[in-house]
Amino acid sequence: MKPAPFEYHAPDSVVDTVGLLAEHADECKVLAGGQSLVPMLALRLTRFEHIVDLNRVDELSGVSRTNGTLRVGAMTRQRAVERDPGVAAAVPLLAAAVPFIGHTQIRNRGTVGGSIAHADPASELPAVALALGAELEIASASATRRVPAAEFFEGTWTTCLADDELLIAVHFPVWEGRCGFAFEEVARRSGDFALAGVATAVEADAGGIVQRAALGLLGMGGTPLRPPAAEAAIVGRSPNASDLDEIAMLAVSDLDPPDDVHGSSTYRRRIGAHLVRTTLARAIEEARRP
Ligand SMILES: Cc1cc2nc3c(=O)[nH]c(=O)nc-3n(C[C@H](O)[C@H](O)[C@H](O)COP(=O)(O)OP(=O)(O)OC[C@H]3O[C@@H](n4cnc5c(N)ncnc54)[C@H](O)[C@@H]3O)c2cc1C
Repeated sequence: MKPAPFEYHAPDSVVDTVGLLAEHADECKVLAGGQSLVPMLALRLTRFEHIVDLNRVDELSGVSRTNGTLRVGAMTRQRAVERDPGVAAAVPLLAAAVPFIGHTQIRNRGTVGGSIAHADPASELPAVALALGAELEIASASATRRVPAAEFFEGTWTTCLADDELLIAVHFPVWEGRCGFAFEEVARRSGDFALAGVATAVEADAGGIVQRAALGLLGMGGTPLRPPAAEAAIVGRSPNASDLDEIAMLAVSDLDPPDDVHGSSTYRRRIGAHLVRTTLARAIEEARRP
């Protein structure tokens, strides 16, 4: 099947892009890597009168580190992030999660901003952004704003972006000190969207006591989720194996994961708890390393 006809625009600046969005608003969609949008257009699951291609807007690509933050431009390819040693050094959790996205060919085209804006609840990058407390830099023709990831994801494939707004960049906080990070997920086949996954970050003091903990769960609800009670239960402790079992159960106890042909809600809750436990154990071990 072919997409329904649309008018194609290829601006080369953010100013021109947001101008087009202001002009065409709800008749318009931006095209980034096309790895989600193009199949949806081709299958006619959606249609727009105007498509605004971001691939010539060079100022939307690139990674820079300043003042405790890694800024990743929205059009930065997922594969570029995966191969950048500066990303692995600054935000190890992001580097750990990206290889789980689809296949190499998809990551060659897919962008960081596209994944965040698409807001699939089983996607890796929204969960990482949520866990780390990233901020989303957003622009329209009339204003710019920064939104915490916790306020950005509103539901399945739904964000707080208005029709005339463009995601410009994602600002990931750089965790310094004795930190450990781990990302794991379960999928039916390599490259498939995850049934469930967990992004975990911890910071410990010199004695191995956890000072800060952040968990981002994917595939466990309509948006990426943080389990605040489980995070609070880790802080101030040096959890042993049975503590980790308890914290893992706490993390999923009041969740209602989706129930579909790929896995039941109960199954997702079980693997979610397992992944919380294993990622926490790995992250804590890394944070305690001298
Ligand atoms: C076979 C297959 C397997 C996949 N597996 C996974 C997986 O395991 N995990 C995963 O996370 N993803 C997976 N994907 C999706 C892939 O990661 C996409 O790259 C991603 O979802 C969207 O990024 P994109 O750059 O391709 O965006 P596009 O497809 O171009 O756009 C997606 C949506 O985001 C909007 N958008 C894009 N950029 C912006 C912006 N800067 N501002 C505002 N809105 C914007 C578009 O308008 C559109 O609505 C898979 C895709 C395929 C085809």
